[in-house]
Parts: sequence; structure tokens; C-alpha cells
Amino acid sequence: MGKGKICVLGAGLAGLSAAWHLSTNGIDNEVFEKETTPGGLCRSKTIGHFTFDCDGHLLNFRREGTRQFITERLGVELDRHTRSAWIHSHGRYIRYPFQANLSELPRRITRECVEGFINASERSRRDRRESANFEAWIIDTFGSGIAKYFMVPYNTKFWTVPLRKMCCGWLDGFIPVPSAKEVLRGAHSRNRKQFGYNAVFWYPRRGGISAVPEALARRLNGLHAGKEVLAINPRRKEIVFSDSATVRYSSAVFTLPLPEIVRLIKELPSSIRRAAEKLRWNSIINVNIGMDRMCWPGMHWVYFPGSETSFFRAGCYHNFSASLAPEGSSSIYLEISYSRAKPLNVRGAYRRALKDLEGLGIYGRESPISVCDVNDIQYGYVIYDKNYDRARGAIIEYLQAHDIIPAGRYGSWRYFSMEDAICDGKRAADMIARLIRASDRKR
Ligand SMILES: Cc1cc2nc3c(=O)[nH]c(=O)nc-3n(C[C@H](O)[C@H](O)[C@H](O)COP(=O)(O)OP(=O)(O)OC[C@H]3O[C@@H](n4cnc5c(N)ncnc54)[C@H](O)[C@@H]3O)c2cc1C
Repeated sequence: MGKGKICVLGAGLAGLSAAWHLSTNGIDNEVFEKETTPGGLCRSKTIGHFTFDCDGHLLNFRREGTRQFITERLGVELDRHTRSAWIHSHGRYIRYPFQANLSELPRRITRECVEGFINASERSRRDRRESANFEAWIIDTFGSGIAKYFMVPYNTKFWTVPLRKMCCGWLDGFIPVPSAKEVLRGAHSRNRKQFGYNAVFWYPRRGGISAVPEALARRLNGLHAGKEVLAINPRRKEIVFSDSATVRYSSAVFTLPLPEIVRLIKELPSSIRRAAEKLRWNSIINVNIGMDRMCWPGMHWVYFPGSETSFFRAGCYHNFSASLAPEGSSSIYLEISYSRAKPLNVRGAYRRALKDLEGLGIYGRESPISVCDVNDIQYGYVIYDKNYDRARGAIIEYLQAHDIIPAGRYGSWRYFSMEDAICDGKRAADMIARLIRASDRKR
């Protein structure tokens, strides 16, 4: 493994979790973060009387133990919420998920969606083929009506690429698939059942989502903020920082986005550089707004599939925790997607978002904005297309062969939640522990 420190690059949830798990295994390590505060995408910001996250961040737990880790080991108080999610469709708000609440749509649309669903169910009973791409999966699973009125426009707006160019490897329960009985029940009357992995969610009682990374960071010794990595030399196992300092590592966990890691390595096989050029992702403009009046009371978030609004989703921090906005006021976030396939400029996107909000009657002369905060999230969601598996696999294999363990949502280059990022940090720490044991045995 060579001489040097165990380094962790990036102090988002994955990097902090890797460092915490290394430390609890008795492995000294140092974390380097380019920003002045830890947390990565889970940083929160207080402006005036409003606390905003860097876009809506809600905790869902699919594995035993992650919630206990946060509440018991880290001491963060979490509140449990039953989701109140909506879809703005045909000029009204209908309950999420669309496919289980068709009765709330105009009659003609309900009928078209039900007919399409029945036809798709019959087709799939006759022909049990695996769907060729994401668009085909939508039509095979939900039928042409649900595809036309929600699934295709919403997902195209969100992902920014034609859905037939996407594979289905990321789905893993992210889109609820109610049974035929449930879809039909929801087409006649209100479906009481909550569907999907996020039917309930958890959120810190105080401080916004940054309460979680801050609690982790407080328990670490070797965390260096304001240290931007400028170059990586895997052969010499050296990292160069923006302050010209150089650190030698024996093995390392990198949680920077995979395309950034590749860009920072100067001597790289051309096959790996070519693989990195094939990676695709979308970016998110997050507009946070504080207003001195209540809007969207009781709602957690709303999906906007239509092209009449630029944002694909809007959410309400004030309904996640009373600590985030003064009583009677609102703190909301809007999310707008862009990418290489659908470029946008931030200022234009912000202006258009306000206009759309005005069109919805949320913002206007009577309800002005008190504070506003715009974040350009360059790496939003990894796009799973036909090149994804091979390109990602080649880069990760190259890095691991050089004792670098890529981890986290962007290091592992996967559709990861916060829980996944925390667990992936632990996985990376376990891999480092194995590398150390193997190297000790060789000595
Ligand atoms: C719009 C959006 C909404 C989301 N909503 C949810 C949600 O509701 N629920 C949920 O569970 N998950 C959500 N997620 C996912 C969640 O944010 C991530 O899974 C998690 O925060 C990823 O943590 P990470 O440590 O892997 O990456 P990051 O948080 O990106 O951390 C990487 C760190 O590396 C640092 N870094 C980058 N370059 C350098 C450099 N050159 N030198 C040094 N440091 C560097 C960065 O500053 C950052 O701190 C959302 C993601 C997005 C984009």
C-alpha cells in the first residue's frame, strides 16, 4: 500500500461517514473539503429568519440501523412525517402518486388513463418481455394515458433527456407501482393507502438537514475545511491542494464526482478519459424563497409535469420543521433541471421561476418575497443510459487498482439517497480496513 496517510476527499455525508467508520475501527484518517463548512449537498443556510437546505432533503430509511445511527450515535432529533405530496395537473392539485389517484382528474382523462392501464396489463400478461428502456417501462407498466399525462412529461422535464435513451437499472422502487386493484380503486374513489418508499419521511427537528453532517463532523478529529484538491497523482499517491500543500496517501476514499476525479488526474490512460466523457448527469437550479405569508399549507411538496411551469417540483421547508420559518410565513424551494442536452442560464431560470410562481398565485404584489437564495447544483442526478455500466465500471476499476475507493452519490456515480451515501461511506471504510489488513499480512 505504500507510506502515507489514509485520506478522505470530500466532507459530504459519504466522506464524513467513511471517516467516522475508519476512526471507530481505530484507523487514523484525514478529511479534506474544499468548502469552508462540511456537509456537501446537505448544508443548510440561515438568511434572515429563514433556514434553507440546498434543495429539499428528506430522510427515508430502507435499512435497519441508519435511523438509530443518526438519532442514537449522533444524537440528532428527528421528527417523523407522513408524506403530503401532490401533483399539479389540469389546473388542480391531485394526490401523489398520479397512478393511484386517477379519480381526482377530469373524467375524460381518468377514463383514458384507466383504458390505457387495462390495455397495458393485458399486453404484459400475454407478453412478459423486459422493457427495452425507461420510456417502454412506463408504457408497459402504466399504459399510454398515465404515460401521456404524467410519467413521460414529468420524467422528461426532470431528467432532461429522451426517456428511450435511459435504462431501468436505477428504478429500484423509486417509482411506486400499485397493483391493478389499487389503480382501479383510485380511479373511482380516494385511495387511503400511501404508496412508495417515501410514504413517511424523517427530518431534523432543528437546524435543517445540516444537523446530520454537523453532528458527524463534530465527532471527527482530522477534518480540514477550505482545502480544494487541484491535482491527483495515483502513481505517486499524491494529492495537491489549492494552497500548494501536497499530501501523500497510502489509500484513500474519494467522494468527489467521478468526472471531477478523472479531470484532476493528469496522467491517465486514454481509455479511462474516454470512459469519463461518456458519463451523463443532470444539474439542478435550486431557488429558495422566504415569504411572510402562508402558502401550500400542510403540503410537503408538489410535482409539476407541465411545460407551463419551468420547475419540476416545489417544496415547503416550513412544513418539514417549525424551526425553519417564523409562524405564518413560508419557506419554499423550486427545482429546475438542466444539462448538456438542455442548457439553461441561472439568472434566466430564476426570473422564469418567479413568473411561473406568480401564475400559480403563490407570489405577487400582495405576497412579496422576503429573502431569496439560488443554488446551482452542478451534479444533480446521474443519468443511467446505455454507456453507464461500462464507463462507470472502467473508471472505478482503474481507481481501485490504485488504492482509491470512490464512494458516495457522485464517487460511486449512482442514484443514492442520504442513507445510501452514509452506508456507502461505511462500505469504503471497510474496504480500506481490508486493504490495510492485506498489506500487514504481506509484511
Ligand atoms: C436536488 C437534490 C435533492 C436531493 N434530495 C434528497 C432527499 O430528499 N433525500 C435523500 O435521501 N437524498 C437526497 N438527495 C441525495 C443526497 O443529497 C446525496 O445522496 C448525499 O448528500 C450525497 O453525499 P456525498 O457525500 O456522496 O456527496 P456530496 O454531498 O456532493 O459531497 C461531496 C463533497 O466533496 C466536496 N468536493 C468536491 N470537489 C472537491 C475538491 N476538488 N476538493 C475537495 N473537496 C471537494 C464537495 O464540496 C462536497 O462537500 C438529493 C440530491 C439532490 C442533488
